[in-house]
Amino acid sequence: MAIPAALLQELCMHPGFDAEAFLQAHDQQRPPVSIRYNPHKPSHNAAIESLITRQVPWCSKGYYLQERPAFAMDPFWHAGSYYVQEASSMIIEAVWKQYCQSTDKKLILDLCAAPGGKSTHLLSLLQENDVLVSNEVIKNRLPVLLENITRWGNANSIVTNNDPRQIGQLNECFDIMLIDAPCSGSGLFRREPEAIKHWSEDAVQTCALRQKRILADALPALKKQGILIYATCSFSVAEDEAIVDWLTSAFPLEALPLEVPEEWGWIGNSQNNNGTGYRAFPHKLDGEGFFMAVFRKTNDMSEAPQSGSYYRQLPTNRQPKQPAEAQQLIRDEEEGEWFTHNDKWWFMPFHSARAVDMLRPLLNIKKAGVLVGSREGASGKWQPHHELALSQLLQPGVARVELSLRDALQYLQGQTLTVDNVSKGFICCSYGGLPLGWGKNIGTRINNLLPKEWRLRKLS
Ligand code: SAM
Repeated sequence: MAIPAALLQELCMHPGFDAEAFLQAHDQQRPPVSIRYNPHKPSHNAAIESLITRQVPWCSKGYYLQERPAFAMDPFWHAGSYYVQEASSMIIEAVWKQYCQSTDKKLILDLCAAPGGKSTHLLSLLQENDVLVSNEVIKNRLPVLLENITRWGNANSIVTNNDPRQIGQLNECFDIMLIDAPCSGSGLFRREPEAIKHWSEDAVQTCALRQKRILADALPALKKQGILIYATCSFSVAEDEAIVDWLTSAFPLEALPLEVPEEWGWIGNSQNNNGTGYRAFPHKLDGEGFFMAVFRKTNDMSEAPQSGSYYRQLPTNRQPKQPAEAQQLIRDEEEGEWFTHNDKWWFMPFHSARAVDMLRPLLNIKKAGVLVGSREGASGKWQPHHELALSQLLQPGVARVELSLRDALQYLQGQTLTVDNVSKGFICCSYGGLPLGWGKNIGTRINNLLPKEWRLRKLS
């Protein structure tokens, strides 16, 4: 693999950098395959379990697999039982455990969220009253983010589509902010060799400028004493340690040390001793290149108004008289609020509803809480929504049919099913105890209600 000479030259300036081992890791080792389980969707997945070699040391639910199975053919993956994620990125769990667990009712922002790897991880780490806002500025990257978040099933999640500058107008609003910035991507060369063609020293400088712009735009939205996590998958100092120096000198931010046991293989590195960032090198640990640094905001950034001034009431469609069918489908109804619009009904926990109140005057909210169902057509017949089937809000007692692997794959391709002894009407089709989506039993067959865009397109 032709690692760019300028990049290698820069890397060789790091004390103790082993160029030979680095090149060997790129030339001779395949990128490890790793997954992270969803703690809210426990399952017994024999096929995946048989491939597990060991746990990712810095992630309680992360595991390495000995080979890459056909994930798309695994109904458990479709049900949101696990996320396929590069292991180094799972390090945010160590930050969370060290700096983010202390207070209750946190509002957390994942500013650059698509496709949703770190958002789904954060959703697994949140405490009961926390709310996550996953933002993605690029419109065509929203569908994959929405799909992954929906699949993960949390009700305490909001997805927005805004530029960091618009986010920055929410003064001192978030307790924790993750900025996994767009970067030159050198840390992923082993996995995506094609990316080498697009790398240049110029591209690194362009990325560094963009990273500064994103950070400067969004930082006003971080609360005083709030935590900033900055990450890239670049090996370049300009996008990593130099950004740490810039952040600590230009903003009221102190860099925080991270406790990483030596045997994990992470390397703490600083440029001008303004603060340490943590690097993953593929020859030092089982994962791709990654950089991460953590900061605490020490002071006000401006005299701008506090987030409270953005509170407004939602329109009158709040707490409507929801259909009886909807009520029967969800659990913990006393812990949240209903919303309705255009004959659709959503439910969200109280803290998410408060966050929506605060965000909606300024942000473009794409999803909040769980879409429970809708009244369809002229007859106004009630229909449960796919989001509910995948959600942790789903009432465990709803009518279900447990599918075989063959039937589950047929269901995921959008086919109708014939199964015996199943109650008539709407029925939740599940595999290994985890819901995949809705069907409607009309007596002779189960009509498939899996939305077209969720269907498995080809069998491989
Ligand atoms: N956090 C994601 C995850 O774990 O799955 C990966 C994020 S990726 C490294 C960077 C993201 O930043 C991309 O989704 C990209 O669309 C977004 N992005 C690109 N340009 C941006 C900009 N100018 N401002 C904010 N985000 C941007």
